[in-house]
Amino acid sequence: MPTYRAPLTDMQFLLRDVFKAEELFAAMPDTKEVTEDLIDAILEAAAKMATGVLSPLNQSGDREGCHFDAGVVTTPKGFVEAFRAYAEGGWPGLTGDVDYGGQGMPTVLSALLEEMAFAANSSFALYAMLTTGVTHSLSRLGSTELKEKYLPRMYDGTWSGSMCLTEAHAGTDLGMIRTSAVPTADGNYELSGTKIFITAGEHDLTENIIHLVLAKLPDAPAGPRGISLFLVPKFLVDDAGNTGELNKVKCGSIEHKMGIRASATCVLNFEAAKGYLVGELNQGMSNMFTLMNYARLSMGIQGNGLADASYQVASAYAKERLQGRAASGPLQADQAADPIIVHPDVRRMLLTMRSNIVAGRALSMYAAMQLDISRFHPEPAARNKAEQLVALLIPVQKAYCTDRGFEACVLGQQVLGGHGYIAEWGLEQNVRDARIAQIYEGANGVQALDLMGRKTVRGKGELLRVLVAEMDEFAAGQQGVAAMVAPLQAFEECKRRLIDTTASVIKSAAGNPDQVGAASYAYLELMGLTLYSFMWQRVLAAAFAAMELGQGNQDYCDGLVKTGEFFMRHLLPRSKALVEEIAAGPEVMMALRADQF
Ligand SMILES: Cc1cc2nc3c(=O)[nH]c(=O)nc-3n(C[C@H](O)[C@H](O)[C@H](O)COP(=O)(O)OP(=O)(O)OC[C@H]3O[C@@H](n4cnc5c(N)ncnc54)[C@H](O)[C@@H]3O)c2cc1C
Repeated sequence: MPTYRAPLTDMQFLLRDVFKAEELFAAMPDTKEVTEDLIDAILEAAAKMATGVLSPLNQSGDREGCHFDAGVVTTPKGFVEAFRAYAEGGWPGLTGDVDYGGQGMPTVLSALLEEMAFAANSSFALYAMLTTGVTHSLSRLGSTELKEKYLPRMYDGTWSGSMCLTEAHAGTDLGMIRTSAVPTADGNYELSGTKIFITAGEHDLTENIIHLVLAKLPDAPAGPRGISLFLVPKFLVDDAGNTGELNKVKCGSIEHKMGIRASATCVLNFEAAKGYLVGELNQGMSNMFTLMNYARLSMGIQGNGLADASYQVASAYAKERLQGRAASGPLQADQAADPIIVHPDVRRMLLTMRSNIVAGRALSMYAAMQLDISRFHPEPAARNKAEQLVALLIPVQKAYCTDRGFEACVLGQQVLGGHGYIAEWGLEQNVRDARIAQIYEGANGVQALDLMGRKTVRGKGELLRVLVAEMDEFAAGQQGVAAMVAPLQAFEECKRRLIDTTASVIKSAAGNPDQVGAASYAYLELMGLTLYSFMWQRVLAAAFAAMELGQGNQDYCDGLVKTGEFFMRHLLPRSKALVEEIAAGPEVMMALRADQF
């Protein structure tokens, strides 16, 4: 059975040497007490929980799945106790609002906690992540009364949360939802309608479940502008905060699905259920978009976490499995064959995995730190810039990390050959569990449209200019560092390709309505490659600096440098092909009639 090890060395190197997190936290009054010692203590405790509590339930949870009986959902053996341990560790309130019992820690730390949880047990991580997502929404948008009533019990893990957006006929196009919210005499609402695919919509892990539900008032404007957000508890809560009678929300069934089988994916029927408005009427969609930044970040992290779990198994296996001989002659002449790690093609797979994992983790942390700056920084200009970066980075981080994460899980399976296909090794489960992250929280194709349409073409490239200024500032700081000349040159060429391509797509989009849709996926990949390359510049610079000063683990830094060189020379050149793909335009794509497919 595979055992997961939390990648603490990698995480600490990124936090300390690459991003200088402690300096950032010290510059913001609300985080200035987040010292290196505290960070280490949090990461070590999170690692203990992931490896000791969550990982042992991963395969058994997948095999057993969730049970449904007459509206009651039971999670697999051990999940209830694991959630209790998670709650007792104080994890649900890690980043929560201190005024309501949260710990006010930076998001970059919860990003690392989430990576460990997703790697160890993605199904379990979803119950936890959904709860955090709901608390974020409530803390930003809820009235004081709602916050006082619900946040403390969610932060201490007594209650959990779910997000109810999707309906059978309305997934990507949420403007079409039909769930209705009818005002009642007491100033609240009654919600009726059916939501599908609701993660953690019903289960036995907590005493109450707090649903955030998108619905429309009877006289609301048509489409997305008529959507409002409501809080609907499974059990009604009285003014003293006690849970009372069951609300009118019923779980109709749970889905049988490819992966994340221990995560309950529910049909929820709202039958005049009591609900409370969150935020302003008809602002549900725009509020949801802002809040989804957190949820989307988590999905990218799911991709990275599962990729790392697969890499750990595959790299260990490649050093043990004896097949064939090294092309340069036998390396272990006393054995029947050499370990497969001698073969360049096996190394290609492992290095592709590892180099994308390092860059994906760094990008997720970079995006999380922008969320932290936008939340905690005392200067409005710094907050504003961070918000702009978040808007640009999140769709790329969500889609590119989940695509690379899935690819890494498949590569890990390939390294094990036939054994990778066998359940015992856990790699086929990682492939199944990683697949969903490319679909939910907005399918990756829709992230690409958001990046290219809303965030780039509509804004005439302004957000990209903010990012490029960050990149240039970093590069300027590396002038005179001999080891950085070659990687920076390759990075500059890629960045130039992205800038030129952006200018030409903005121009061509004006004359052709299908231009954005046809080019958006390749454009997101070009942006993803450029950002991964930017992350590698930062990692390489930190590794070279540590080696120059003889500080830290030299062998670790040497391994990082070689992995970064692989990325720059073997993966980054793909940016050239992407430029050509983007330039191909929509004509050929749109030429076939629907009946010719
Ligand atoms: C296991 C699981 C868990 C989930 N958890 C939740 C949850 O907790 N809460 C919740 O509310 N929902 C949840 N979902 C729903 C999920 O977010 C949706 O499935 C997803 O957003 C896509 O919607 P859809 O399935 O209706 O696909 P559709 O919207 O029908 O899209 C189908 C395909 O068409 C593409 N497409 C659609 N519109 C466009 C367009 N305008 N331009 C280009 N391409 C387009 C999409 O990219 C996609 O590839 C979950 C789904 C699953 C499977």
